[in-house]
Amino acid sequence: MKLKQYIKEIINQGDDSGNGMTVRFGLPSGLEIIGLPTKNFYGGHWDLGPTWNYAVLADKPFLVDAGRFGEGQNLVNMMEAAGIKSKDLEFVLISHGHEDHDGGLAELVKSTRLKVKAHAVYELLIRKYPAWAPVGHKADFPAKCWHCPMPESFYAKNCLGYHKVLQALEIDPIGDGENELAPGIHTHHLPGHSPDCVAVLLADEAIIVGDIVLPEITPWPTREEMFDEIADVVKPLSVKPNQIFGLDRYIKSLKKLGEIAVKHPDLLVLPAHRFYFKGKWNGLQLAQRVGELLEHHVQRCAAIIEILQTGPKTAAEVARDHFEERLLEGFGSIMADNEIVSHCEFLAACGDVVVVNQNQYEATGTGKFEKSILSTHGI
Ligand SMILES: [Zn+2]
Ligand SMILES: [Zn+2]
Repeated sequence: MKLKQYIKEIINQGDDSGNGMTVRFGLPSGLEIIGLPTKNFYGGHWDLGPTWNYAVLADKPFLVDAGRFGEGQNLVNMMEAAGIKSKDLEFVLISHGHEDHDGGLAELVKSTRLKVKAHAVYELLIRKYPAWAPVGHKADFPAKCWHCPMPESFYAKNCLGYHKVLQALEIDPIGDGENELAPGIHTHHLPGHSPDCVAVLLADEAIIVGDIVLPEITPWPTREEMFDEIADVVKPLSVKPNQIFGLDRYIKSLKKLGEIAVKHPDLLVLPAHRFYFKGKWNGLQLAQRVGELLEHHVQRCAAIIEILQTGPKTAAEVARDHFEERLLEGFGSIMADNEIVSHCEFLAACGDVVVVNQNQYEATGTGKFEKSILSTHGI
């Protein structure tokens, strides 16, 4: 089925990026989903477009995601304008703990009293652990922010308020693998972009994928080394670093989505960004998009190996060779380094690079990454 056939009603048209839009989707079984994109603040080439939150009008209706900080009440208003009363909702599920998805959560819960569900890792990472926080100024911050490179002046002003209210929330944790949320509705824990990412399969007809798969954008993968900082926090879950962090884990999550896509080739894919952008819809065919994203990582690994042909380099040096200059400005350089480290960790696990002189990567002459990325994903 084409995306247009799923769109039953544009309740509100909103702007060209989808801000202010409200859309009713209808699945063949009769299940309805309301798309509720709320504003993001990123600009320029970091513009993800709004965050697409979804109200799933199942027997027990629920909401997925809460928009960014300051959007919680707006989301309630948007739902009411679409005829959804928050008292009719059973719970809100958080797709993953990035601020553009859970920033509005505390405000939403304050006005609706909704129960919150999220992956068990999320439940642990939103709390503060002053005894374990990295030395310095992060004692008040939740574990999910310990890796954040922003300076204290930025986060004390922009983030602390949001985290304080979030830390006080009760969360009903979802476990690993596949879990039934309601009859015919299942979550899949698919980490890598974030350690707590979940996708929601709706009646084998649609899938809410959060930021795991996006149109037009390649979701950034975490680094496996991010685990070290929060190892004590997630100890109760007995997970290994590569079970929740890193490119290897992200690729495994993509492959799982690939398997789901093969089983259900007609799934309506409901992504969290760019679903509607620059005045046009970006319908996704899941198997095809998963294939494109896997291929993107093959290309990036190949490019890094090529850069390393001239000798060992640090992540920052590889980033400078690999990315266009405009992408390395300001915050971009942090994102670029993250990309390179994430890929080099994966290449090291494949045996294609080794770490030398503590922080340089050296190519070993093999190219096992391609087979590792593209094998057995069933597409
Ligand atoms: Zn995200
Ligand atoms: Zn996002």
